[in-house]
Amino acid sequence: MKIIMLGAPGAGKGTQAKMIAEKYHLPHVSTGDIFRANLKEGTELGKKAKEYMDKGALVPDELTVEILLDRVAKDDCKNGYVLDGFPRTIPQAEVLDKELEKLGDKVDLAIDVEVPDENIVRRMSGRRACLKCGATYHIEHIPPKQEGICDNCGEPLVQRDDDKPETVQKRLTVYHDQTAPLIDYYTKKNILKTVDGTQDMEAVFADIVKLVG
Ligand code: ADP
Ligand code: AMP
Repeated sequence: MKIIMLGAPGAGKGTQAKMIAEKYHLPHVSTGDIFRANLKEGTELGKKAKEYMDKGALVPDELTVEILLDRVAKDDCKNGYVLDGFPRTIPQAEVLDKELEKLGDKVDLAIDVEVPDENIVRRMSGRRACLKCGATYHIEHIPPKQEGICDNCGEPLVQRDDDKPETVQKRLTVYHDQTAPLIDYYTKKNILKTVDGTQDMEAVFADIVKLVG
């Protein structure tokens, strides 16, 4: 099963992708996580990606497509995966489709997690992340057991640089310009399903499970 998570930044794609990955035993593939891991390790890719991420812009397609295709070519992706944060542009979606077609394969389901822009800034200003294991919390809605500390690995939680309000506004504009057209793209392929992302995370997940089966 190959699933794509669509939605604005902060809509809850990562939160849901992790739950789907666990329930259906699929790898969770997040291009944002891959960029952040590279940044933490100080690789050239990480440095290049940071230039764009800090501005709230998209990392260029060439770079992003290459790291994504490398990742999904790994053994653990043989039986499928949940893509979170990819594709973010029509050309990215087209490359993915072409590569899958070569293998006689295709994307099965694109899930659009719908959350209005008004809710997004609040969601993102409260987001806290663990840079070690990738877990994500929200200071009000999904708090860790101990304030500022990751439940899974005990690391201190941080606010992502790109979750500051000015950058969030820019990311929302980029989302509407470059990523939202994918809703139409996958609708035309008859694989788009929409869930109401304003519900609490268990209710959103219950809706997703109904779609995945
Ligand atoms: P995305 O991957 O789409 O950028 P995240 O999954 O990181 O979004 O979620 C953004 C923020 O909103 C995080 O702080 C997360 O804990 C919180 N969040 C996710 N789902 C919900 C929900 N259903 N209700 C309230 N807050 C949520
Ligand atoms: P995310 O963790 O998905 O919110 O992504 C964080 C940032 O990484 C984005 O704002 C972009 O700068 C970059 N990024 C992640 N995925 C992509 C992608 N598919 N295409 C371009 N840039 C991306």
